[in-house]
Amino acid sequence: MQRIKTIRDVDCQGKKVFVRVDFNVPLNEHSAISDDARIVAALPTIEYLTQSGAKVILASHLGRPDGERMAKYSMDNVAKVLAQYLGQAVLFLPNCVGEDVSLAVNKMTNGSVVLLENLRFYKGETENDPEFAKQLASLADIYVNDAFGTAHRAHASTEGITHFVKSKVAGLLIGRELEFLGSKISDPERPFTVILGGAKVSDKINIISNLLDKADNLLIGGSMAFTFLAANGHSTGTSLVEKDKLKLAKEVLKSAKDKDVNMLIPIDFVITNEFDSEKMTIGEVKTVDFDIPNGWCGIDIGPKTVEKYSNVVTHSRTILWNGPLGIFEISQAASGTFDLAKAISSSEAISIIGGGDLGKAIRRSGCDNYMTFISTGGGASLEFLEGKELPGIAALDRI
Ligand code: AMP
Repeated sequence: MQRIKTIRDVDCQGKKVFVRVDFNVPLNEHSAISDDARIVAALPTIEYLTQSGAKVILASHLGRPDGERMAKYSMDNVAKVLAQYLGQAVLFLPNCVGEDVSLAVNKMTNGSVVLLENLRFYKGETENDPEFAKQLASLADIYVNDAFGTAHRAHASTEGITHFVKSKVAGLLIGRELEFLGSKISDPERPFTVILGGAKVSDKINIISNLLDKADNLLIGGSMAFTFLAANGHSTGTSLVEKDKLKLAKEVLKSAKDKDVNMLIPIDFVITNEFDSEKMTIGEVKTVDFDIPNGWCGIDIGPKTVEKYSNVVTHSRTILWNGPLGIFEISQAASGTFDLAKAISSSEAISIIGGGDLGKAIRRSGCDNYMTFISTGGGASLEFLEGKELPGIAALDRI
């Protein structure tokens, strides 16, 4: 099978290399960077390129300025943080295209780094305007995509640009995403266990369909579990149940049986008699086996379920986990997710964590360093696991 080319497959010496990075960092109320993990995550690719003698042109979006210039979303501060990490100057350019940018890029020396202004200050970015894409492409000899989080969007800097640059390859971050979400799962070391949580069956149904053919075990948690519980004829109280997905849930349960997949749904729950999803507050809390009493709502999997799931995890060789098992944002409903994370940490398995909310939960549990891989993409990892082709990846060269 052909694989996507990465920066290791091309000669970057003396070349102008345009790198689409993900510097969409969270900002606090003073517009300061509150978490620079995404900048840190991009360093291996940037350092590889500078050490290869490339002229590195970085570009990213930040926030949702919707085609307007907004000071709080300027890349200026990102350039300063990046320079500190790299230990070298990063020239910030206050535009993405135009004569000034071309002039500055043409003056670059080998191994130097520039960072362009926020791509989404230009409407052409999200509209995938070919003219904007062509102007971006005119800066580069080689295009590198290392922004997995936006690879599922066909934007000018992720897809449009690839039509105008000869050589287009993946960066080291996307290379790892492809390795873990791709090859490690398409031909997994077995037993292969898939853990799915999060809010809705409807969000995860395509992943379930795609992975039922590959998984040995499928463990269900999160509010999604209540639709399966209801499909099995149990009462669910006021827990979130997608009534229009009950038939689908029954089909999935049957299909798992037919395919000999060990599909487990929780056997006990942490419940509350009051849950305000806006304020994220709860009332009284207790643990019950199913069924869930009237007026009570499931907020986490219970300790018996954790034990049962931990046992499966301990005997697995590959684990893929997408979506938290409870409302981990509330401390009384975080144990299911955190305790399973601990069980995975002490297992020998390759552990692959789908991004988004679960990435946040795993970091909060303190187990992040024990996971083999945590994806940097929320929506992108979801679509990738559904088996969809991501436009920002499909457009890259193959070898
Ligand atoms: P997703 O984006 O689909 O992975 O969903 C993540 C969200 O699901 C998190 O914000 C959790 O708080 C939420 N969640 C997990 N379990 C429950 C539950 N039992 N009831 C309500 N929300 C839940």
